[in-house]
Amino acid sequence: MHSSLEYLAERYRITNGKKFRLKDVDPADTGMLKSPEKATELLQHSVQLLSEFQEKLYAQDQWALLIIFQAMDAAGKDGTIKHVMSGVNPQGCEVTSFKGPSALELDHDFLWRSTKALPERGRIGIFNRSYYEEVLVVRVHPDFLEKQTLPPKLVTKDIWKERFADIRAFESYLGRNGVVVRKFFLHVSKAEQRRRFLERLNEPKKHWKFSAADVEERGHWDEYMEAYEDMIRHTATRHSPWYVVPADNKWFTHLVVASAIIETLESLHLQFPKVGKEKLRELAAAKRALLNEK
Ligand code: ATP
Ligand code: MG
Repeated sequence: MHSSLEYLAERYRITNGKKFRLKDVDPADTGMLKSPEKATELLQHSVQLLSEFQEKLYAQDQWALLIIFQAMDAAGKDGTIKHVMSGVNPQGCEVTSFKGPSALELDHDFLWRSTKALPERGRIGIFNRSYYEEVLVVRVHPDFLEKQTLPPKLVTKDIWKERFADIRAFESYLGRNGVVVRKFFLHVSKAEQRRRFLERLNEPKKHWKFSAADVEERGHWDEYMEAYEDMIRHTATRHSPWYVVPADNKWFTHLVVASAIIETLESLHLQFPKVGKEKLRELAAAKRALLNEK
């Protein structure tokens, strides 16, 4: 890895959430980098590295990578996915965006729709929002929980703790099956969100991105921050860590996410499949035949 990329993501990685406090991460932090120029150069390099790792991941066909993005509106999920994955072969990568659940989805357990979208071996799966909404938006808006029509005796004050435990168990199950899970919370400040909303309102090309519901959710800011903090405290583990990524500067967000993914893929020691003697003989024969063609 490029030396400036190494360890860049490490300081934002939470592997044990017990003592985690959201206020310890500054959304405006840019680490050692003071300006976007150097970051752009590093990002280009990371995109190249990522593409090489992905090729091996695909060829080896053993591991899968699941990348989860959670964030408040306008924190930059879409842009991060677009920039960080720009060099990746679309055949080896699938993005799933999770919106409010359909009637069919509401009729199932809360992990159901996510399990259907899990990446197969050799692939990268990206969740733009995820089952974590079940302890975020659903927690902030109790009427969403009501719509899930759970048996009333199962809905107690412990429901969030129980969901955390279920999520931890699910992710450890995935890990044991070769699906590596990495989770990113893009941590934007309330002031920067306001600036970005206003930008969307002032620029006709960005109008489609704006929805009145976004401002409504902004009204629940503190409740969301509490829910995020509690979620990270209970679901950051060694095998599936959270990265709490400063998101007030998009160029920095992209770089931290890229660096975390590269670090993860590097740790898998991916190898192109080795070809046996038999296969080598077959290849030599094919080459001879092609060279001897008239
Ligand atoms: P964009 O950048 O386009 O705004 P987005 O991810 O915010 O992307 P939207 O369609 O605006 O997409 O919002 C999706 C909404 O669906 C979010 O408000 C999210 O909280 C909500 N949602 C996702 N999962 C669930 C869930 N399980 N239960 C209830 N609401 C959910
Ligand atoms: Mg939205």
